[in-house]
Amino acid sequence: MQKYFAGNADVAVIGAGHAGIEAALASARLGAKTLIFTINMDAVGNCPCNPSIGGTAKGHLVREIDALGGEMGKTADKSFLQMRMLNRGKGPAVHSLRAQIDRTKYARIMKHKLELQDNLELRQAEIVSVENDKDAQYPWKLSTQMGAVFSVKKVIIATGTYLGGRIFIGEVSYEGGPDGTFAATELGKSLKELGLPLRRFKTGTPARVLRRSIDFSCLEAQQGDVPPEPFSFETEDLGENKVKCHISWTNEKTKQIILDNIHRSPLYGGAIEGVGPRYCPSLEDKIVRFKDKERHQLFIEPCGLDTEEMYLQGMSSSLPEEVQLKFYHTIKGLENAVIMRPAYAIEYDCVDPLSLSATLEFKDFAGLYGAGQFNGSSGYEEAAAQGLIAGINAALSVLGREPLILDRSTSYIGTLIDDLITKGANEPYRMMTSRSEYRLILRQDNADKRLTPIGYEIGLISRARYEKFLKKQDEIEKEIYRAEHSTLSPSDKLNAILVSRETSPVTTGVSIADLLRRPQISYADLTEVDTNRPNLHRSVFEEAQIEIKYAGYIKKQLDRVEQVERMREKSLPTDIDYKEITGLRLEAQEKLNRIKPINIAQASRISGVSPADISVLIIWLSREK
Ligand SMILES: Cc1cc2nc3c(=O)[nH]c(=O)nc-3n(C[C@H](O)[C@H](O)[C@H](O)COP(=O)(O)OP(=O)(O)OC[C@H]3O[C@@H](n4cnc5c(N)ncnc54)[C@H](O)[C@@H]3O)c2cc1C
Repeated sequence: MQKYFAGNADVAVIGAGHAGIEAALASARLGAKTLIFTINMDAVGNCPCNPSIGGTAKGHLVREIDALGGEMGKTADKSFLQMRMLNRGKGPAVHSLRAQIDRTKYARIMKHKLELQDNLELRQAEIVSVENDKDAQYPWKLSTQMGAVFSVKKVIIATGTYLGGRIFIGEVSYEGGPDGTFAATELGKSLKELGLPLRRFKTGTPARVLRRSIDFSCLEAQQGDVPPEPFSFETEDLGENKVKCHISWTNEKTKQIILDNIHRSPLYGGAIEGVGPRYCPSLEDKIVRFKDKERHQLFIEPCGLDTEEMYLQGMSSSLPEEVQLKFYHTIKGLENAVIMRPAYAIEYDCVDPLSLSATLEFKDFAGLYGAGQFNGSSGYEEAAAQGLIAGINAALSVLGREPLILDRSTSYIGTLIDDLITKGANEPYRMMTSRSEYRLILRQDNADKRLTPIGYEIGLISRARYEKFLKKQDEIEKEIYRAEHSTLSPSDKLNAILVSRETSPVTTGVSIADLLRRPQISYADLTEVDTNRPNLHRSVFEEAQIEIKYAGYIKKQLDRVEQVERMREKSLPTDIDYKEITGLRLEAQEKLNRIKPINIAQASRISGVSPADISVLIIWLSREK
């Protein structure tokens, strides 16, 4: 094949999925001349699995992406069909927003944003090789299937589930990407030759069935919240929910069909070698792992307004099509279901994230970054979060500016990246609130407080948006002050409210804050008696209430942050051989030499490095100094 020079750029992004889109937009908006490649122009921003954005902990990531200046939140608001705040019955740390979205509308909006963005070019071309020439002005050379050669300064690999993609449906398997697209068959070899540590992961998705073939009359409906709450801090009014979802359950017959055919599952039959996501298990996995469980819940979700495809959340499988038909037909409401797209599993190449640094640049390859599913994570939200950080850092590096490293105490994005690069991923990594030791201060409602100043400082948040943010923070502070210093006198009306909320009446004046500190009482309960309440956006009261109610816990977590901050100041040289430090256990020496942590705090999070090893390191450091 004849190669030809096709142009230069500052940053090239391989992949226009959830990671690539955020990376390319951030890079172009920060002033780096950016190229973004996709194998299929009509699959830009595709949602190949659940037609939804957000969910437990994933909702936090979307709010954080928005607070930093990313796009996912705004696009989810523009394509939403139904919004629900999950875990509302629990503490605010686990409240998480989830949007049912129109997946084709979501993709269309994202593609158009890429096309409209200055400094950015979107191209349909399969990248088949990446070569490095360290001393060149444009050290990275990308070649396409058609022979075009692009010379660039920085490369971000965001190839998702396409790299070496292989589809499995029962005994049938073939090379392919999601939703009938081509797989990226060449690039994997080139990256291995470069020296990247690639391995095989897998994930699966359920069937899509025809809406009119479902009997909804016998199913429980699930409505959205009224009013629906937006993801983006910039979205004023979302309007109304447009769809319902429905709930059904598997049963003994479903279980029996699957157990009778488990030998035909490529996963249990051994055809699939890739490791799958523990927290998004296939139905086969659930039935094998939880044998005693009589039934498993599924959600029937619309994929869009102008399609009759319905998504069966919780029912992913890679069993043969005829077996899928049999077990889906045992499920209430699906007795006559028509499968429009069968469930399948996909196996793909991804990299070992221990080879990445906190900027998502490869430790051994300057100017090469990884993002998304390629880094060993799973999920649109996890991908978009990494894409944003990789795009920001590639551009900041081109512009000669300081990189952006988000610490675990600032965000779930920081927690996600730190977990990947410090603990690695033996299976596709899905974000969960339990992964953060700071979850009470990393809530989805205060993502702007934690990250918008950073977004403004690096240049992704506009002056106007920043001023609006400052005004809101000021309103929250003033409201907390007002609640602490405004006293409500004891009255029949107030005491009637307190008694109705099963808390004791008052006989003397009480501050609004003291009432809010009672678990039963919220701002909504005091509306009638709190007559001087200013007219502010509901998000101001939501945040003031949380800050007042949880002040003690929040202070404890902030103290912990300070404590770890002191540990972080103890930075570690990255050129030492830990084998030479006596007193360190063998496992710790090996892990520390492999990961080369930048400070004591990161060292303390490496699995296999004990608190005793950390003490040895701190003593060694003090002697070195
Ligand atoms: C079958 C299936 C099941 C899934 N199940 C789950 C699940 O259970 N839970 C969950 O959270 N998430 C699941 N996912 C979602 C998954 O997280 C997504 O794949 C998510 O889209 C990852 O985003 P990404 O940006 O990393 O990659 P993708 O969205 O996959 O985008 C990759 C992009 O890279 C491009 N590309 C790849 N190679 C090249 C090349 N050589 N040259 C040019 N362009 C290239 C592609 O064209 C595409 O634009 C599933 C996905 C699939 C396909």
